[in-house]
Amino acid sequence: MSSEDKTIVRDERYDAQSVEAKWFDRWQQDSSLYAAESNSTKPKYYVLEMLPYPSGALHMGHVRNYAIGDALARYMWMNGYNVLHPMGWDSFGLPAENAAIKNNTPPRQWTLANIASMKAQMQRLGFAYDWSREVTTCFPEYYRWNQWFFLKMYERGLAYRKKSLVNWCPQCATVLANEQVVGGNCWRHEDTPVEQRELEQWFLRITQYADELLRDLEKLDRWPEKVRIMQRNWIGRSLGALVDFELGGSVGPAGSKITVFTTRIDTIYGATSVQLAPQHPIVADMIAKNPDLRAKIDQLVAEQRKAKEVGDIGAIEKHGVFTGRYAKNPFNLEPLPIWVANYILMDYGTGAIMSVPAHDDRDYEFAKKYKLPVRVVVLPLSGGDGDETVMDPPLPFVTEDGLVVNSGQFSGQTSKEALKTMAEFAEKNGFGKATITFRLKDWGISRQRYWGTPIPMLYCEKDGIVPVPEKDLPVILPDKVDITLTGGSPLAGVPEFINAICPKCGGPARRETDTMDTFVDSSWYFYRYTDAKNDRAPFDSATAAYWFGDHGIDQYIGGVEHAILHLIYSRFWTKVIRDMGLVKNDEPVERLFTQGMVIKDGAKMSKNLGNVVSPDDMVARYGADAARLYSLFAAPPDRDLDWQDSGIEGIRRFIGRVYAFFRQDLVSAGTYSLGYSPGDLSPQARGVLRKLHQTIRRITEDFKGRWHFNTSVAALMELLNELTASQEMFRADSTRAAPKAFRAEIQRTFVHLLAPFAPYLAHELWESLGEKESLLKARWPKYDPALAMEEETEIPVQVNGKLRGRVLVPAGADQALVQERALADEKVKTAIAGKQIVKPIFVPGKLLNLVVR
Ligand SMILES: [Zn+2]
Ligand SMILES: [Zn+2]
Repeated sequence: MSSEDKTIVRDERYDAQSVEAKWFDRWQQDSSLYAAESNSTKPKYYVLEMLPYPSGALHMGHVRNYAIGDALARYMWMNGYNVLHPMGWDSFGLPAENAAIKNNTPPRQWTLANIASMKAQMQRLGFAYDWSREVTTCFPEYYRWNQWFFLKMYERGLAYRKKSLVNWCPQCATVLANEQVVGGNCWRHEDTPVEQRELEQWFLRITQYADELLRDLEKLDRWPEKVRIMQRNWIGRSLGALVDFELGGSVGPAGSKITVFTTRIDTIYGATSVQLAPQHPIVADMIAKNPDLRAKIDQLVAEQRKAKEVGDIGAIEKHGVFTGRYAKNPFNLEPLPIWVANYILMDYGTGAIMSVPAHDDRDYEFAKKYKLPVRVVVLPLSGGDGDETVMDPPLPFVTEDGLVVNSGQFSGQTSKEALKTMAEFAEKNGFGKATITFRLKDWGISRQRYWGTPIPMLYCEKDGIVPVPEKDLPVILPDKVDITLTGGSPLAGVPEFINAICPKCGGPARRETDTMDTFVDSSWYFYRYTDAKNDRAPFDSATAAYWFGDHGIDQYIGGVEHAILHLIYSRFWTKVIRDMGLVKNDEPVERLFTQGMVIKDGAKMSKNLGNVVSPDDMVARYGADAARLYSLFAAPPDRDLDWQDSGIEGIRRFIGRVYAFFRQDLVSAGTYSLGYSPGDLSPQARGVLRKLHQTIRRITEDFKGRWHFNTSVAALMELLNELTASQEMFRADSTRAAPKAFRAEIQRTFVHLLAPFAPYLAHELWESLGEKESLLKARWPKYDPALAMEEETEIPVQVNGKLRGRVLVPAGADQALVQERALADEKVKTAIAGKQIVKPIFVPGKLLNLVVR
């Protein structure tokens, strides 16, 4: 079609369904289309969206996440990079078991069906994934490497077994996941309170890397600050001291002293009680022969549980029980009452604290409630103007910039000095020492569930714990398992699974029946993508080194809800396998982006609220391009997006207008190479050229840094408006105003700029231009800064028809801008002082006249 065809109807409609169907078929046939190259000389770029759980259907939040990643991948391809853009399935986990119980479908079948339908959705949406690298974590080809890593960690002392508490429903007679505990009761037995039971469980020693995980947050300067803060708090390093308090009276098997952890040893003379977590081993001794006390402490445990579920133990209403026993403060030998309190956690510090009401908010609240003594041992340092120390600070008085008083030989030291000298004193006298503790706990990976990676361990009566030899991996998850059965791990009910032979002595052994936490699967899957079919190793180190470089994945995109667990575990895993020599990078992800949520009518989409927008519906009604474009246009990607039906309707119209513009004014691509000189263009055509280069600049800059794709799409809309407005001019004077090569450049560039956001339409237009080269390989347009520069003009400003000043504005400036500048002009200001503007008269590019009274 040539530019001479001017007879095409103006409002020719764009048929998104048929155009998208055509390209969908073509893309499906070309499996190498989005394949990353091996042995490429191009620079590499690894862009990754977090892999989804195959729940059955994509939601709009997925579409938004993937539309962002896909736009970036396409942009990088067009910029000449070798792009790795893979996708996979985080496909183990509890929902498959729940669905199995509900619908009587085996978890595997349910999961694979869901994967098939979600993959079809992704392909229909046109996401450019390299499916040859698809990773499905529930396949033995993948989870065997979970087992392999586990064995390596076991060898290195990073995997170990210890007793730990689990949720237990006495009705189900089985272990519950945290998600299955609802308001303290079982999800299936709403009247049955969940109990805590102690089981032997497997842990990964993430705390060994706590310091490095904290320190390396500094390197992650291309992560959102909020994520780094969340991780820092989660790791929760605190510098403090351990101090032993000797127990008075007869003692039980748990020991003769209580070791407290404190970050404020400088206040130890102000301690008026010792407080224990309800789960502290000494408490067990104390309640062994005291049913009254036991009942009270069970109550505290229940309160603590409830508070943990709500998620804020800090807000718990503080309760405690006096045990009737005393422990001696080693500094002043004072016997202090021992209390058990519901706000003391066993997994922080030592599960025991000294309570200093005068200098701690929580201790003060507790002491007031139970009428415990309050003793001041820290006073404010004197002020800068030489004031005497304030003798009566309001309590509690919490500061590390104080002066220690009432503290024996340490009185007169500053708090900072005393923190050091008192810890040294404790160490010298053998009842304490300075220490560092972390809030971060070792990662418990045992799950008493079916649908997960079997932990590759054996138990032999003679040899104890025996790891499964590497050559026997994978330990296959059996298919026929009754997961409705009660009484612990479903795998325990499968004799063919549990009965094994001990590789050490050849005698009978029992297999571990717990499976791994699914966060194990997602901790390293991004390495597998680099070498997804390897059956001799989790991945080839050299290949991973190419894609990860020194700093990790170039761009990772996902929800902020993964700021802690997934992203901490992934960082831990990378450090472990670096120490094993498998990778060189210290961190898995160089740059992280967390997109906002998609909401509707101000609320999170949910079936209960009836405000769910289905991607399938949107694709069927408006096409995939519209759904993608709208999810990028409606809000900056890092903010929440409030879905508006009228908004996507507007996007559909925009797509129709783009199509109509091209249909009316197609110039064959061959003319592009003819070239033209910008100097030969008419002034109006030069304006169009300027707008074009400004748009290239804006979109290119958005890709580089801000990622405000909403403004990128808006820029395309503005450009289209300008082009449409110029069409008459092009036709009227097609030689000087718009040589063919110029018009071909406009069209070619427009298609490029559209391609990352609306690939179906872009490919259709690209082909209609007669382009033969693949759009993904055609180079992204460069802007010319000189051409993008605004021409400035001087606009005369009149007040009541009299010339009062001139303002300098960019050519084509609108009335609002001219008037804003005019009102800032001193002479104009003077002329209208005290008067009211009744009517501004604006002649674009020529004049502004302010009529005042
Ligand atoms: Zn139950
Ligand atoms: Zn043995």
